[in-house]
Amino acid sequence: MIAGVFLDRDGVLNRERPDYVKGWDEFQWLPGVMPALARLAKLGCPIAVLTNQSAIARGLVSTATVAAIHRRMQAEVAAAGGRIDAFFVCPHHPDDGCDCRKPKPGLLRQAAAHFQLDLAQCVFIGDSITDAQAAYAVYCASVLVQSGRQGPNLPSLLPPALQDVPIVPDLAAAVAWLFDKESVAIE
Ligand SMILES: [Mg+2]
Ligand SMILES: [Zn+2]
Repeated sequence: MIAGVFLDRDGVLNRERPDYVKGWDEFQWLPGVMPALARLAKLGCPIAVLTNQSAIARGLVSTATVAAIHRRMQAEVAAAGGRIDAFFVCPHHPDDGCDCRKPKPGLLRQAAAHFQLDLAQCVFIGDSITDAQAAYAVYCASVLVQSGRQGPNLPSLLPPALQDVPIVPDLAAAVAWLFDKESVAIE
């Protein structure tokens, strides 16, 4: 049984922008994400988004604006039959040396503590090598999608320790992979 599903945000749920998502007007859902999240909700386990938002430390967007974007995401997902139970955000700059900016596993630990989950029973769906590295550091499984920045280059970027991480086109395929793995009959 999967105890919890963690999702990266940019490149998995919404289109990644090289200049960061600084407001709702710059937020764009990726195609197929809504039905994928509605299907994922049927697993019945906690679903949390774990996201690096160094744009906060860079002064490009406020914590309040990021929180407002996340509330709006939650509402739109709920209206489409899906569910995001919580967001865990690293607001730090890469130079801050925090323990939550992926590839560090701090956000996974925060989510696991919040929902009282065994990370070895959870899955992290990300679009970046650093997502898989963060999961690997705490014995959490991961799946990588190619809808983000590293897209077609993902297979060649995977370090040897992560060669077994499945790479699929997008969130819908990642959710299908989860259901296959679980042999979950419910649709
Ligand atoms: Mg990403
Ligand atoms: Zn951090």
